[in-house]
Amino acid sequence: MEKITLELAYLYPTLLNIYGDKGNVLTLLYRCNAREIVLNITTIGLNESIDYERFDIYFMGGGQDQEQIIVSEDLQAKKNMIKSAIDSDAVFLGICGGYQLLGLYYKTNKGLELKGLEILDLYTIGGTKRMIGNVLCKELESNETIVGFENHSGRTYLGSSLKPLAKVIRGNGNNGEDGFEGVRYKNVFGTYLHGSLLPKNHMLADKIIKLALERKGFKMPEIVLDDLIESTAHKKACKLQY
Ligand code: GLN
Repeated sequence: MEKITLELAYLYPTLLNIYGDKGNVLTLLYRCNAREIVLNITTIGLNESIDYERFDIYFMGGGQDQEQIIVSEDLQAKKNMIKSAIDSDAVFLGICGGYQLLGLYYKTNKGLELKGLEILDLYTIGGTKRMIGNVLCKELESNETIVGFENHSGRTYLGSSLKPLAKVIRGNGNNGEDGFEGVRYKNVFGTYLHGSLLPKNHMLADKIIKLALERKGFKMPEIVLDDLIESTAHKKACKLQY
């Protein structure tokens, strides 16, 4: 029988990749392969075009303001393709800088306004104090614990039509004010959590794979993985103090 194949677009792997963000892609690869799903990974950098119909999953990591300036400009040419992908329920995981750029704009703490993809009704304002530490939160949809590491000066505010990804138990999350973390829209997951996110939260990795499969009319294979190491990593990370 032919294996199920998923296509992943890894956006700006050299510019946006801090605090182990690449680990998210590796986790998806590992968990797909363990279930006999082929995950093809295509890197997409500056001046490279995207065929939105080709990809099932998009990943964009975080970065320094300096890298975000370059990416913000380049993204304008990719905007329509990424919007079409998200509108057609492709799965998108954006971490920190990658999350911020899904929104309307990111105004850095030096006053520079970086244009976002304008796909999500959210905006980000850079503050003088960085929010750095281990975050513990509960996913709103499942009430499952999500854990990760944040390091950002940007404070993100969601428009009233958008739902956050999670409720913060420990740490700052979106802005350190409203008690929420990230965003969840269609099959988009935006979050401030690096560290990396998916190796520490294998349930979330599986949710991403399941959504990508279902969109193509496939079910998640009923192969049970031995998640002893993953569960141990998750539990240990949950105990880390801010
Ligand atoms: N440069 C952005 C900020 O400071 C994003 C940082 C990140 O991706 N960790 O808010």
